[in-house]
Formats: sequence, structure tokens, C-alpha cells
Amino acid sequence: MSIVVQGVTKLYGEQKALDNVSFEVKTGEIVGFLGPNGAGKSTMMKIITGFIPASSGEVHINGLEVGTDNLEVRKRIGYLPENNPLYPEMYVREYLGFVASIYKTGIPKKNQINSIIEVTGLAPEQKKKIGSLSKGYRQRVGLAQALIHNPDVLILDEATTGLDPNQIVEIRNLIKEAGKEKTVMLSTHIMQEVEAICDRVIIIDKGVIVANEEKNNIYSIIKRPKQIIQVEFDKEVSESSLAEIGNVRAVSQIKNNIWLIESDGDEDIRPSLFNYAVNNSLTVLSLQQQQNKLEEIFRELTNG
Ligand code: ADP
Ligand code: MG
Repeated sequence: MSIVVQGVTKLYGEQKALDNVSFEVKTGEIVGFLGPNGAGKSTMMKIITGFIPASSGEVHINGLEVGTDNLEVRKRIGYLPENNPLYPEMYVREYLGFVASIYKTGIPKKNQINSIIEVTGLAPEQKKKIGSLSKGYRQRVGLAQALIHNPDVLILDEATTGLDPNQIVEIRNLIKEAGKEKTVMLSTHIMQEVEAICDRVIIIDKGVIVANEEKNNIYSIIKRPKQIIQVEFDKEVSESSLAEIGNVRAVSQIKNNIWLIESDGDEDIRPSLFNYAVNNSLTVLSLQQQQNKLEEIFRELTNG
């Protein structure tokens, strides 16, 4: 199931929240949708899922036009909206039963509910009221309602925002698992999330797409190395000997025995640096990996 967005513009009164946005998400891809607050991510996702109309332009889900084929489209899409609005007074099982009855999938409702409760790890909480659940479990309920009709496309708006680090890992694993057989688009402002689970990165800023690249290529759109290591040795070394280490692209001396090493290879160069030290009877006094590169790219493209 592919998502094709063609020339979508959205006006809220005078304000252009989306300006002629086009992109494609291929079947089976997990795409990270990045952008600062107010960039237009949620607006785009609401348009893709048919919750609000575009002012102009079109969205197709596997050839079906959102807007005209809305019912068909919704059967194929699972959507976790931002802030995950749920019914706090409903019990988990009751709520999922309610959602399951909306989609007439042909699968017996009870089986459908049991299976989604298992997949999302909701079993221990299934008899509780939604309002009494922790934020992490509420997100699981949100994911469960998005997955219950076994859609081919998943649209997740800030699925891990507000969760603690353990919950983030768990929800990410759930998304990754679901992504094995589904087309997924997820918005986030957490770069590690994109690096951990996405195949492609689309960056939006002020309603305009500023980057759309495979994750491994995003590093090359601005000329930045994949890995920058600052290393300090106990003794003097020569620049040329450092430059000969495999995958090293550039070497610069910060001061005395402190060097900045840049690499473009996919492999982590830190083990090679340690080997180099051992082979030259040096001690590594410190070694620091410099900040996440995607984060820098993001800042550069969005002036964040
Ligand atoms: P993001 O999800 O990237 O933070 P949004 O899509 O929520 O961005 O918002 C994009 C812009 O549209 C923002 O400037 C926001 O204030 C504005 N906006 C969003 N929803 C509405 C609305 N219902 N009415 C008016 N303006 C809105
Ligand atoms: Mg948003």
C-alpha cells in the first residue's frame, strides 16, 4: 500500500499550513516525518487519513483517492492521532470492542480483540478504565485501536512523545514489528527514533518539504561526515598516520595530542582507532563521539 501526496496545500484562514506538498511512501516503507513544532506534520497526517480536507491537491492510498473513497481508505489506514484522544470512562476491552465494531472486517470480534491485546501487551490492563492507565499503556491502547482492523497503512502522530525511556523502547519495538508488514509514516521530533526505525526521512518546515531521502543518504545532502570522533592520545602522532586508518575521511588537530577524526563509512571507526593506538603503543586518554548528525542536518535545514 503506497501513499502518494500530490501538490497538497492547506489553508487555515489566511495561514498556509501546507504549501504544495508532494511526496510518496512506498509499500512496506517506514518513513519518519520530521519537523519543528508548527511545521505542518499533524495537518498533513489528518489530510492523509481523511479527517480534514486539503484546500487543494490530492492524496491517494494505493490508488484510492482520500476524500472521495473515504470509507474504503479508512479501512486500510490505522491512525494514532497526536495527543491520542481516548475515552477515559471506557474500559480497555470495551473500547477496543467499540472500535472493532466500526470496521466490519469479517473476523469474529472477540478474536480480533484478544489478538490485538496480546500484540500490544495490554493483557494485564485490559479490565481497567482507560483514564486510570499510565501514559505508556494509554499509548498502547492508541496503537491497538490503530491496528485492530489490520490496516496496511499506519499513520502515527508523535507516538512516543511524553513517554519515559523504557516505554519509548517498548512502543518503538511495537512499531518496528508492525512495520515489517505495513507501510508506516510516523511523525516525531526525536532523531534517534528515525535512526532506530525508519527507512526514509522526510523533513518539513513551515509547510514545505525541505528533505526527502533514504535514511542512509540523508547524511550526504549537506556535506557532513557520518561519524566525527574526538580522540586524545598520550603521545604525539602524525596526521598522515591517522589519515591512513580505514574509512577515515579527514583528520584535524585540535591541540597537541587531541584530534578530530571524520569518517564516511558505515562502520564505526572507534575499534580501528583503538587498534591504531595499540599498534603504535599509544594510550587513548579520551574518545568522544560528536553529536548525532541527523540532528545537525535537521537544524541546518529548519533553522531550528
Ligand atoms: P505540527 O504537527 O508540525 O506541529 P500542525 O500541523 O499542528 O504542525 O500545525 C501547522 C500550523 O497550522 C501551525 O502554525 C498551527 O498553528 C496551524 N494550525 C493547525 N491546526 C489549526 C487549526 N485547526 N486552525 C488554525 N490553525 C491551525
Ligand atoms: Mg503535530
